[in-house]
This record gives sequence, structure tokens and C-alpha cells, in this order.
Amino acid sequence: MISKKLAKAINDQINAEMWSAYLYLSMSQDIYAKGFHGIAHWFKVQFLEEQAHAAIMINYLHSQDAKVVLAPIAKVQTEWKSVLAAFEDTLKHEKEVTAMINNLCDIADDDKDRAAANFLAWFIDEQVEEEKAASDLVNHCKMLGDHLGGMIMLDKELGARQYQTPAPLKQGS
Ligand code: MG
Repeated sequence: MISKKLAKAINDQINAEMWSAYLYLSMSQDIYAKGFHGIAHWFKVQFLEEQAHAAIMINYLHSQDAKVVLAPIAKVQTEWKSVLAAFEDTLKHEKEVTAMINNLCDIADDDKDRAAANFLAWFIDEQVEEEKAASDLVNHCKMLGDHLGGMIMLDKELGARQYQTPAPLKQGS
């Protein structure tokens, strides 16, 4: 059974995931207003994924008979100076989330909680993907610079992103 300390830390992480969702929804709105509707869609899919991350953690706490306690979601930034700036903030944010997930793993290790470690392994892999995706987009945008034609192509490409239900939710775990 989960320790009080780890249950509290996962509760805090649920709030962090919901904050992430809100951050990406905010980026989506600002970028939509800038006219890049495809890139705005990419951020909207990020928003859906972050909510799914919170849902996965909620399910896990339920499986451990631990109560989920929701806290207020803090304010998010509402304007970015460019698409590149939004992707740079995405990468910075995902690195912070990776550190938070690593911290949860450290608590699970201290507790010798094998079930939690196993559960958290999915998030470790997910963060590798999140950081890689954000880093690729930062590099892509830097290469394009002020090339509007290139940005329009990127907008079209990212507009095709489809939301996939994360595996732990599909399995209902
Ligand atoms: Mg997340």
C-alpha cells in the first residue's frame, strides 16, 4: 500500500499535470490569435494529454485506496512573443516536469514501493518523448527563423496531429 508521503506527492503531481494542461491551453489560445491554427491545434492536443496524465494518476491513487485531493490551479502566462518562445517554454516546462517525476521515483525508491516504481516508469518514458518533441520543435523553429512560408508549412504539419489515448488509460489501470 502507498505511503502517505507518496500519496501526497502524487496528489501534488495531479495539480502540476492540470497546471500543464492549462499552460498548453493558454499557449494554444495565444498562438491561435497569432493566426497559426495548426500549431494551436498541436498545443490543444498537449492540453488533452496533460489531462490524461492527471487521470492516470487519479486512477492509481484509487487503486491504492488513497484519497484524491484537488487543489486550485495557479495562473498561467497568456502571451508569448513568438511561436519559438512558446516552444522554448514548452521544453523548459517539460524538463521541470521530468524533475518532478524523478522526485516521485525517489520517494517510491525510499519506500521500496515496487508497484509505484512500476507505475511511474511509464511517466519516465513519456517525459523522454515530451522533451524530444519539444526540443525538435525548438530546433525546427530556429532553422525557419522569420521564413513565413516555412512557418505556414509547419502550421499545416502540426495541425495534423491526432490525440491518442495514453496506454495506461486504455488499459483502464
Ligand atoms: Mg504530463
